[in-house]
Amino acid sequence: TALRSVLKSKVSIGVGRMCYSSSVPTTKLFIDGKFIESNTSEWLDVHNPATNEVVYRVPKATQEEMLAAVDSCSRAYRSWSETSILARQQLFLRYQQLIKDNIKELAKSITSEQGKTLADAEGDVFRGLQVVEHACSVTSLMLGETLPSITKDMDTHTYRLPLGVCAGIAPFNFPAMIPLWMFPMALVCGNTFLLKPSERVPTCAMLLAKMLQDAGAPDGTLNIIHGQHSTVDFICDHPAIKAISFVGSNQAGEYIYERGSRNGKRVQSNMGAKNHGVVMPDANKENTLNQLVGAAFGAAGQRCMALSTAILVGEARSWLPELVERARALQTPSGDQPGADVGPLISVQAKERVCRLVQSGVDQGAKMLLDGRDIKVKGYENGYFVGPTIIGNVTPDMTCYTEEIFGPVLVVLEADTLDDAIGIVNRNPYGNGTAIFTTNGATARKYTHEVDVGQVGVNVPIPVPLPMFSFTGSRGSFRGDTNFYGKQGVQFYTQIKTVTSQWKAEDATLKSPAVTMPT
Ligand code: NAD
Repeated sequence: TALRSVLKSKVSIGVGRMCYSSSVPTTKLFIDGKFIESNTSEWLDVHNPATNEVVYRVPKATQEEMLAAVDSCSRAYRSWSETSILARQQLFLRYQQLIKDNIKELAKSITSEQGKTLADAEGDVFRGLQVVEHACSVTSLMLGETLPSITKDMDTHTYRLPLGVCAGIAPFNFPAMIPLWMFPMALVCGNTFLLKPSERVPTCAMLLAKMLQDAGAPDGTLNIIHGQHSTVDFICDHPAIKAISFVGSNQAGEYIYERGSRNGKRVQSNMGAKNHGVVMPDANKENTLNQLVGAAFGAAGQRCMALSTAILVGEARSWLPELVERARALQTPSGDQPGADVGPLISVQAKERVCRLVQSGVDQGAKMLLDGRDIKVKGYENGYFVGPTIIGNVTPDMTCYTEEIFGPVLVVLEADTLDDAIGIVNRNPYGNGTAIFTTNGATARKYTHEVDVGQVGVNVPIPVPLPMFSFTGSRGSFRGDTNFYGKQGVQFYTQIKTVTSQWKAEDATLKSPAVTMPT
């Protein structure tokens, strides 16, 4: 039943009225519980990256539509924030079941807009689903604190209360997981939420919104607007919005952090990455090479936790030819084909950027070990494919090392010692994720202790934390104080009220005013 309802909803949210004279379906806005066609005159094309075909047109919402969406959030907040915490928990218990029931449908939509393989798209939904499941433990997560008898007859307790209207601005690379990092935690804490999905992958967020409605979310608790910079500026400036969650590039994230903070909002901003995999010569070779290749080229390298840089330490240098052979064996048909390992990039511009950065490495003296730039995928000649690419002899001053490539490209550096490797990682401007491959506990401990990076894996190539922990980030990869999901997510979406009460027995009534500071 749930699947049918979502399939039905797909008709009303996507393929309803056509845009202008075009036969391409339009993406709707989700305002006050209704999927509505935008009145805008500005539309953006959403392409299937495997075929270059335009699959949807997404509107740049008008000022009136954006105002209507925030007003809807503000109205809904009045009652939603007063809803019992058990009712909010029940909503998310129903929601997690609906997502589970429709995982394949969501994955299909992701593959058609984002390009990642179907199996990987299911992983995208699954990692978001885990956050929804965690949100169901809100009754424990939101517990306050109490301290009785701080003085005679006096007790103090704290409540966690919602903030009001919160907003989220999402990237293209995880169309399910990243919106699900945001609105479930915000809503379950009693806030309402305005979401701006990536304009390049809007459909999955719309399906998630429909399922939330089917699970029983009242109108206005989640609103969705689409657009680009002016939509982002609107979110940063509107006084009713109290907090912004952002995930995406540094260019956008620094800007949103600065503009939102200047307007008095809480902002958490997860940004770019250059994740290093440090390979020690004592590592389990078979596991390490497979893990490194999987983490470098999975999702075509378009994960913020992709291991895009390898540092081979000491004798591990000699493993390079085998690493290249394993990468060469990966399959790159379209993401919806069985056996696909590496799908296309998100856009023709992304392909151009990746190829330019690879070429810059070659021009600056790096060695091309595997070149996927000219790959042709049979039947998908117009897709934005780049095959697995490996560049060796890379040094930290090269552009292919200093810039985030965000494609299926592994740059390989070499180091004599663990200390040298740690130095390289800590001098890089980003600090999102890293992994060390070793069988030596002391080496692993030294690395995890000394490296200045948010997520560290020991023989774990993509250490994205489960939602009872928080997704962090150091240095250039994060701006803000409080991270996404886990305890920190609850802190981000709540404020504390501290209540101190005194209940005296009648015979202890004050005889005169107390004019000194209470101690
Ligand atoms: P992006 O910054 O281009 O877009 C993210 C969002 O910001 C979109 O909704 C977009 O409309 C908006 N935006 C884009 N440019 C803007 C600008 N100049 N001003 C204001 N708003 C703007 O990011 P993307 O290409 O969609 O995603 C890839 C990036 O996201 C990579 O850098 C990747 O490392 C990063 N990322 C980080 C994490 C993390 O948790 N650290 C997770 C996923 C992705």
